[in-house]
Amino acid sequence: MAEISLITPIEYLKGVGQHKAELLKKELSVFSFQDLLLYYPFRYIDRTRFYKIRELNGSLPLIQIIGRVVSKEIVGEKQARRLVIQVKDDTGIMELVWFRGLKWIDRTLHPGLAVIVFGKPTEFNGRISISHPEVEIYNPAAKKIGNLSLQPVYNSTEKLKQNQLDSKGIQRLLENLTELSSSLIRETMPGYILEKYHLVTRLEALQAVHFPADQAALDAAIRRLKFEELFFIQLKLLRNKLLRTEKFKGCVFERVGEKFNEFYSSKLPFDLTNAQKRVLKEIRMDTQRGVQMNRLLQGDVGSGKTVVALMTMLLAVDNGYQACIMAPTEILARQHYLSIQQLVGPAFIQVEILTGSTKKKDRKRIHEALLDGSLHILIGTHALLEDPVQFQNLGLAIIDEQHRFGVEQRAKLWRKNSIPPHMLVMTATPIPRTLAMTLYGDLDVSVIDELPAGRKPIKTIHLYENQRLRMFGFMRQEIAKGRQVYVVYPLIKESEKLDLLHLEAGIEAISRAFPLPEFRISIVHGQMSAADKEFEMQRFVKHETQIMVATTVIEVGVNVPNASVMIIENSERFGLSQLHQLRGRVGRGAEQSYCILMSTNKLSADGKIRLETMVRTNDGFEISETDLKLRGPGNIEGTQQSGVLDLKLADLAQDQHILQVARNEVIAVFEADPALEKDENQLLREYFNVRQPGIHWNKIS
Ligand code: ADP
Ligand code: MG
Repeated sequence: MAEISLITPIEYLKGVGQHKAELLKKELSVFSFQDLLLYYPFRYIDRTRFYKIRELNGSLPLIQIIGRVVSKEIVGEKQARRLVIQVKDDTGIMELVWFRGLKWIDRTLHPGLAVIVFGKPTEFNGRISISHPEVEIYNPAAKKIGNLSLQPVYNSTEKLKQNQLDSKGIQRLLENLTELSSSLIRETMPGYILEKYHLVTRLEALQAVHFPADQAALDAAIRRLKFEELFFIQLKLLRNKLLRTEKFKGCVFERVGEKFNEFYSSKLPFDLTNAQKRVLKEIRMDTQRGVQMNRLLQGDVGSGKTVVALMTMLLAVDNGYQACIMAPTEILARQHYLSIQQLVGPAFIQVEILTGSTKKKDRKRIHEALLDGSLHILIGTHALLEDPVQFQNLGLAIIDEQHRFGVEQRAKLWRKNSIPPHMLVMTATPIPRTLAMTLYGDLDVSVIDELPAGRKPIKTIHLYENQRLRMFGFMRQEIAKGRQVYVVYPLIKESEKLDLLHLEAGIEAISRAFPLPEFRISIVHGQMSAADKEFEMQRFVKHETQIMVATTVIEVGVNVPNASVMIIENSERFGLSQLHQLRGRVGRGAEQSYCILMSTNKLSADGKIRLETMVRTNDGFEISETDLKLRGPGNIEGTQQSGVLDLKLADLAQDQHILQVARNEVIAVFEADPALEKDENQLLREYFNVRQPGIHWNKIS
């Protein structure tokens, strides 16, 4: 056999062999020694504490007791045949039950023996029992009780368990592995960083995470491993950023010119909020440095990102560049187009819209105007990414609602100019800070954290199905005041047919409660053609209809200031960020706005928290923090393309502090040694040279 290293295939480990190796690969993706070493326990059982039988109840997790066997009998016939052993301590008596492996237990356990029993208690008719517990003969002379005070538990699968690879079996393999790998585990972090943050070595950490001597050793190990994970993600992200600024020049927007100034002084219909001003300043600084801007603009729904986008584009135009905005849907692109047209008025600058449904002849005209430079601003969908769309001089590309677009699409926009255009990515989905640092850690982040003055916070109420009449009454009352109402239904792929039935039933009920000619209703859902949707949307925008019944196509960006009521049906089925997005469709005008969350009476625990959170707060960041806690980062939109999901131990909801410290340290490292040339940073340099060849930089340039 070749020399052992951490990449040695797992079949060469003592106790594995061909068959188990196949299973480990298939079931756990454990291919090598290293993979097994990094297969961390998913929890630990505290075996230092012994419960008394009287303390036991059915809601306890795995526990252990010390007791004496008082009786043993086999009861039941055939399938129901089982071995029942009664154990007592000085507080009570309980039963241990086995349905399998009766013989072995029968041979080993006898009345009178003192035993340690370990397992999950259940309660039935006030009687406590444990089925298939682990039992050890109690030996007070033995130094350790059980094998470890904290016993690691590894995730296993049915197939693995059938082949002696339950949690204990995996632990045995790890024993074999750590014996021989202690000389192979190499440090990845520079010594000065370990010292500075009091981190244990990688060897100590890996040993302690699998075989913790005590809680303190385990805590130290976990802290070290989490730090390492988060540190290297930040190292990668910030190195990307550094390389990008070195490699790419940026278009220089030298001056604030006439279009910008004219717009500001004579067209802008309101005062900018301080947050809008601050963000514009940040963008202004970015775009005159001669380095490509890559900025994320986070702002809650209604915070006024569009006007910031427009003014940034005017800045580009004033400096002789073109600009574009890409939105994820046709409706949104059109919305941007209309609001920008409205803001700038006629004959100020040339603005066009390009989407999948743009006619061929218009398309041609637009392509030509882009090339000869007569078209200043192009707004559209991903149709902008197509090859025939060539600019004369694209200086700024804005992407709205980032999470719908991937990294690859960002890169496509870059290539539309010889000097990559400045990029401004706008998102109305507030992301928790930790997630932003990890998802967009290579971008600069601006936040509009202030709503325009005079906005009244939206009032949110939660009503149950049997309060529907109240909801209808409320709708009538608001419509009588001249307001408009959204009614939104969930439409989820897995239950699409049923959802469409609900939608139809809902439309019928609303049509009955709000009959013509007094009331008119718009209907928009995903099955309709783009043209039909647009037509219905426009009727609502023009206030020809008072009620808009829709599935979630209206989720993002739609702007009808006169609509002041958002009713969400089956609201318990929506995620928090979606609910927040939907609610953001109202509260855009001067009127008091309302959001009514309709739900069934049967709410899950999480569902309850979601609705309560919505009723309690309008703050998108607070909502996103709750969302992260409820669902974990894997289910938050946008995380799929990031390293977030590769995190083994670190938890973005809990480890904010470690993340912040790790990121600050990375920043300090690059400040002191941008190319990682110093001896003390050799390990970090190696991280890129040896183990991480995949900064796919050439892919983008
Ligand atoms: P979002 O950030 O959700 O994209 P919009 O840009 O659509 O928000 O702005 C929402 C509404 O607020 C629009 O009608 C816009 O004209 C208005 N608005 C934006 N900025 C201000 C401001 N500083 N003062 C008053 N109204 C504003
Ligand atoms: Mg918007």
